[in-house]
Amino acid sequence: MVATSCAAEGWQVSVAKYKDNKACAISYTFDDGLKEHYTKVGPEFEKRGMRATFFINGNSINQDDAHITDTTRMTWAQLRELSDRGHEISNHGWAHKNFARFPIEEIREDIMKNDSAILACTGKPALTFCYPNNNKKAEGRRISDKGRVGTRTFQRSLGSKSNDKELAKWTQKMIDTRDWGVTMTHGITYGYDNFGRTPQRLWKHLDMVASLKDSIWVGTFYEVAAYTAERRATSLGIARPKENQLLITPTMRLDPTLFIEPLTLVIQGDTPIRKLSAKQDGKKLPVTLTDDGKALVTFNPNGGVIEVKVK
Ligand SMILES: [Zn+2]
Repeated sequence: MVATSCAAEGWQVSVAKYKDNKACAISYTFDDGLKEHYTKVGPEFEKRGMRATFFINGNSINQDDAHITDTTRMTWAQLRELSDRGHEISNHGWAHKNFARFPIEEIREDIMKNDSAILACTGKPALTFCYPNNNKKAEGRRISDKGRVGTRTFQRSLGSKSNDKELAKWTQKMIDTRDWGVTMTHGITYGYDNFGRTPQRLWKHLDMVASLKDSIWVGTFYEVAAYTAERRATSLGIARPKENQLLITPTMRLDPTLFIEPLTLVIQGDTPIRKLSAKQDGKKLPVTLTDDGKALVTFNPNGGVIEVKVK
């Protein structure tokens, strides 16, 4: 038994590097809760079947439509809507307090206050974190990183300086190197580092990425952070009790209350697989057969034995 791959008499079973065995992953993150993230970004992503991550600061979110104190920012109701539609709403500090500039007790309060507000608003805990001003002072991280699935420690800017050519090159690099790209955007037509009068540069980039959907997994920051961590922490036990049957036992060594992202199994035989079914915990699992004769099976790494039948 090895970490993510196992062989049983002619069968190769492994966990794909990324969901659905895509070549790479991209997470689009938007900082500071700007109103255009709700009016423009959410709908443009949804149109293309994609979801994004919004790292917000509770203190600049408007209470409700009747009490707009800052027209440039979203309301809590708008955040809830984005969350209900599958986007990730996560923690960027309540008041955007830079770890290097405030006493640690204030940082703690700032982070916890935002966690509580996000949970109260969306009904979902903020399982990731984005450092205010990208300051990663260790003292602050000991608080901010606790109970998270991942935090944004690397990113590339997607904003005023971005153009089609450079974005196409970066996207291709993600595919070629099988990497996880994380983008950071603030303003769209206004605000820090915005796209000015040509925000269509962003939508055009999304069109290009959507056209490469066989190679690129666009997942929220949580989804990709959880998937990659779970994959590394999952071992597969494998048995072949019958000629056409495999029993695969996943063991995942992470907290099952935080890490709940399904993983993708890649099953390969000596000959191309033409028909395969799989079930786990009494439920049929989604199966995709690829052109080159592999089977991709979506499973729960916290679940029980996966029973696979090859026909
Ligand atoms: Zn920020």
